[in-house]
Amino acid sequence: MYYISLSLGELILKGKNRQSFVHKLRKDISRVLKDESIEEIYQEMGKIYIKTDKDQIQERVKKLKHLFGIVYISPCIRVDKDLDSMKKASVDFVEDYLKDHPSKTFKVESSRADKQFALKSPELNQLFGAAILQNIQGLSVDVHHPDFHLYCDVKKYVYFYIDKIKAYGGLPMGTNGRGLLLLSGGIDSPVAGFLMGKRGVQIDAVHFHSYPFTSPRGEEKVKELARILSTYTGRLTLYSINLLEIQKAINKNCPYDEMTILSRRFMMRIAQKICDDYSYDSMITGENLGQVASQTIHGLTVSQDAVHSLVFRPLIGMDKVDIIKISEEIGTYETSIQPFEDCCTVFLPKHPVLKPTVEQMEKSEGELDVEGLVNEAVKSMKVYHIS
Ligand code: ATP
Ligand code: MG
Repeated sequence: MYYISLSLGELILKGKNRQSFVHKLRKDISRVLKDESIEEIYQEMGKIYIKTDKDQIQERVKKLKHLFGIVYISPCIRVDKDLDSMKKASVDFVEDYLKDHPSKTFKVESSRADKQFALKSPELNQLFGAAILQNIQGLSVDVHHPDFHLYCDVKKYVYFYIDKIKAYGGLPMGTNGRGLLLLSGGIDSPVAGFLMGKRGVQIDAVHFHSYPFTSPRGEEKVKELARILSTYTGRLTLYSINLLEIQKAINKNCPYDEMTILSRRFMMRIAQKICDDYSYDSMITGENLGQVASQTIHGLTVSQDAVHSLVFRPLIGMDKVDIIKISEEIGTYETSIQPFEDCCTVFLPKHPVLKPTVEQMEKSEGELDVEGLVNEAVKSMKVYHIS
């Protein structure tokens, strides 16, 4: 019988909370496998096992790989604790593997979690090793650098597996509260959302545009980024806000070189209002120290000053190449680099103010009806449910 095993890693260290974390992950598993009926699923010593037809394995692994809280995934076969069945299973499993993975050397690694079992791990290794050598031509044992490992876990049942497919680890969605991601069309913010999602923060997103100055296709692009994120986070809500009236007001009443930084403070305030109105515990941005003028310590200080929520900036100390690597891996990169103008490029100052201060910002904002502008923008927001 074929199973897919999910190794839970960090989850099993969670002490008293463990069961609620595992429960959450189980719900996520039901969600991503919803199309197929799950015939049998259970937990045994740090792993979740899902009964799976052999021809379903690839498709299911692909879906399960997107769930946070899983460290690695192994397709395996399960047999009863009977030496003959175990020997036969080890040989059959390896034979099957060799069809797609021509190999010359192997090593058996048994783990006897059930200490009552008569044979110890080294004895099991020998038993299966000998059976495989006897029955399969052209293989030899290499304990240092084998082409593949055959793992055998002896628990209530016995499991054989070879592949350990790396998943993302982290904690299941929603086990660390709710976060509102400021999602632009760029490379950084989707990665920031992914990273906080991985730590268990349930993500929704807000996007700012300047329609008709920015094209509706820019918004489509952001919806597509949200859709890709939702393959990890589950269904997410995207709030879409037109910033144009605010930008016009800033343009008319405030110093030209403060456009970017003042817009940023409005974005933060609007996000704060959505957090307050819809009970988000945190905000998330893709900000990265020093990347652009608005992300210097001064820039970050004045944008932080506009809000009271906790703001996560998971990319703050990363290098761009590493951020790009993650965006390629999670599948957002190709969409992010599509060239649509961002709302920040409307009324873009040639020389943005370099060392903005809170006092200076507050003085400029004294010319504006800040609360009224924020409320108007939120009133006309569009809400999309993305999955
Ligand atoms: P990104 O690649 O995420 O667009 P960036 O390097 O272009 O980031 P900025 O444009 O300075 O940097 O934006 C910094 C952060 O502010 C973004 O990561 C995002 O969280 C938020 N942000 C910027 N523009 C928008 C927008 N139009 N809608 C929503 N959030 C935005
Ligand atoms: Mg951007």
